[in-house]
Amino acid sequence: MKFGGTSMAGIERIRHVADIVSREAERGNEVLVVVSAMAGETDRLVQFCKEAAATHDPREYDVVVASGEQVTAGLLAMTLQNMNRDARSFMGWQLMKASGVHGNARVESIERGLLDEALSAGQICVIPGFQGATEDGRVATLGRGGSDTSAVAIAAGVNADRCDIYTDVDGVYTTDPRIVPRASKLNAVTFEEMLELAGAGAKVLQVRSVGLAMREGLRLRVLSAFEDLPGTDIVAELETNMERTAIAGIAADRNEAHVVLTGIADRPGTLSAIISPLAEAGISTDMVVHAATEAGTASDLHFTVPRANLAKAIALLKERQPDLGFTDIRSDEGVAKISIVGVGLRSDPSLAATLFKVLAERKINLKAATGGEIRASVLIDENDVDVAVRSLHTAFGLDDKDVK
Ligand code: ADP
Ligand code: ASP
Ligand code: MG
Repeated sequence: MKFGGTSMAGIERIRHVADIVSREAERGNEVLVVVSAMAGETDRLVQFCKEAAATHDPREYDVVVASGEQVTAGLLAMTLQNMNRDARSFMGWQLMKASGVHGNARVESIERGLLDEALSAGQICVIPGFQGATEDGRVATLGRGGSDTSAVAIAAGVNADRCDIYTDVDGVYTTDPRIVPRASKLNAVTFEEMLELAGAGAKVLQVRSVGLAMREGLRLRVLSAFEDLPGTDIVAELETNMERTAIAGIAADRNEAHVVLTGIADRPGTLSAIISPLAEAGISTDMVVHAATEAGTASDLHFTVPRANLAKAIALLKERQPDLGFTDIRSDEGVAKISIVGVGLRSDPSLAATLFKVLAERKINLKAATGGEIRASVLIDENDVDVAVRSLHTAFGLDDKDVK
């Protein structure tokens, strides 16, 4: 069971979480609980780091931001004990090996020995999300929203029957229900679709948690920590009686920045030389758009990077400008990426056409457009996001009860 920040925000709510956990244990299940920091706490800690030093050692950043989850893990364990449940908390370094870039580390392995011991002794295991330890014994965090990935990794690591992600909405919706009140809850969504939705900005699950659950064949559900409602199952394939609209959902990502390099030389290896240093620095790129000109003259390259990485990406590229062969670099943070996602995109060409038509009718200009197997994305002005998402939601028949 994983509980997000809103469900852990304050002692009253932690008591409520303890009730839900307790009920699960009463049903005879062995329970491991992964917790987030209290809502707002990680933001607060990140802000402290920025104030302490504008460019700080990422290892020390991890020491600071990992502390939020330590607090809630201890508080939940003592609340459970106070309800006469045998429970104990752990620290991330005892259970999870992580590697890669500090602040955005990857899970390498789960050490299940301690967990097995506690479970055999009838204890409920309370585990802080978001954190593990590197090979050289430093604390490492898994990127924002990383407690979802901790939960899936722990569940897979102990061969759990399922992983339930409790959050502040009662499931996965066709789009963010806080932005579009007419969004419909999906009873089921495929791993592929969820992977694309999460990757395109639907923050209900961290994208890496979905990839990991898919590879591990783990039963994954998203459900409400506040109301006793059915939730959404993340499944390998939709059953035929689950057939629904061709589009599973629409995601809006306001955390990307648009980068344009002009004067790209027409020769093999240019794109590789530009994207590789970004990848090595752990900066992901999306919406990469490039086409050579027929005349073999210089052209433009467009892509997006997370806004938080923009300054670093530009610095890296400028450093290498003499070798890379581009004339200018422009960037724009006032953009948003809108994506439609659904397995139906594979077979129905009218869906991408509808995306373009609806935005054209709304006179929304497209700064870039890309298509994948089950996702089509456009980059637009940030001010147009609400209109774009609402219009598309209606046009694709996703409003209200259209999704069964
Ligand atoms: P937690 O703290 O539980 O991890 P998050 O804030 O990370 O919660 O994720 C839950 C939020 O994700 C919801 O409050 C909702 O605003 C947002 N969200 C974005 N897209 C979707 C979607 N398609 N379905 C459900 N929630 C979504
Ligand atoms: N507390 C961390 C964050 O806000 C991890 C999480 O909640 O998933 O990103
Ligand atoms: Mg989250």
